[in-house]
Amino acid sequence: MRRFVLLAIFLVAIICFNSVSAIHAASSAVIPTEGGTWTKPTVTILITPQPNEPWFKTSYTFDASHAISRWSESIITYTDAYGSNYLRKLNFVTCVSGVNDTLCGSPDVQVQFIESFGSQSSGLGLTRIGIQSSKTFQAPTTTTLAAYDPTNTTQLSDVDMVNIASHEFGHALGLGHATVSVTDDGTFELMFVSYGQAVGNYRNSLEAPSTLDMFALSYVYDWLATSSMLSGTGHPMTFLSLPSGTAYGSVYPYEEQIQMLQNSINQLKLEIIILAVVAALLLALVLVFGILLSRRKPVQSPTYSGSAGTPATSPSVNLAVVLE
Ligand SMILES: [Zn+2]
Repeated sequence: MRRFVLLAIFLVAIICFNSVSAIHAASSAVIPTEGGTWTKPTVTILITPQPNEPWFKTSYTFDASHAISRWSESIITYTDAYGSNYLRKLNFVTCVSGVNDTLCGSPDVQVQFIESFGSQSSGLGLTRIGIQSSKTFQAPTTTTLAAYDPTNTTQLSDVDMVNIASHEFGHALGLGHATVSVTDDGTFELMFVSYGQAVGNYRNSLEAPSTLDMFALSYVYDWLATSSMLSGTGHPMTFLSLPSGTAYGSVYPYEEQIQMLQNSINQLKLEIIILAVVAALLLALVLVFGILLSRRKPVQSPTYSGSAGTPATSPSVNLAVVLE
């Protein structure tokens, strides 16, 4: 008697999204302001490259400029979500020494490069600001960016340079150091005192100002809500934390958000393809195993029926198996 082995395979992939809709209390992260503000919405920045130095990468000039323009883009993202639209009045004019420096006249911020701060310092960047009694900045603020880490062994990648320049520009705008290194969405806090990534690592990611940084910026420049020039005095140094209702996370420019979304979709596609291939292999394996099992099924012992002593006729299927 032929026996058929029926195998039913169900591959069920259940992805449980643990939608923990935890209602976050306002983050405990705090950021102080520098205690100063620029008195006009247009801030001019002069970048001075060092093209003749062997330690200088020509792309660093673009990186510093890119860091500044990303602040403008993050301001757009932030104000779309949380208001304080007056921040969009902030206008950053970047010039490059030897190219278009006259455009900046006497610049508010001067950006320069050095090879390394040396082992005495753990720094990658340094911004010096002057604050007047009116709580306004005295130009020029100077920002120095290092091409190498303090041990002078590892050169900053372009991503590193954008991140360090972004942090320093936060100081130049009037922000101090945030008290936490990572935001609630797991990204790096741009204004934390130390760089959260290993210098030179090709896997380093771009960092963006956090909602806390942006909130502090909206405080420093709140005079822009009513005027195009600061008529009175700026705020003294103030420690700020996020108001309830504002999630603590990084504020990436829209363009970068779209790119990150695209990357995660591509990653998901890759994972689905891998899962499908593994599932197909498993299915093939089970089918082969099932076929082998059915072919090698041992002959069933004859059974007896009817009158005593009369062997039952073996099913023809068993005969076929025996003949194999
Ligand atoms: Zn700093």
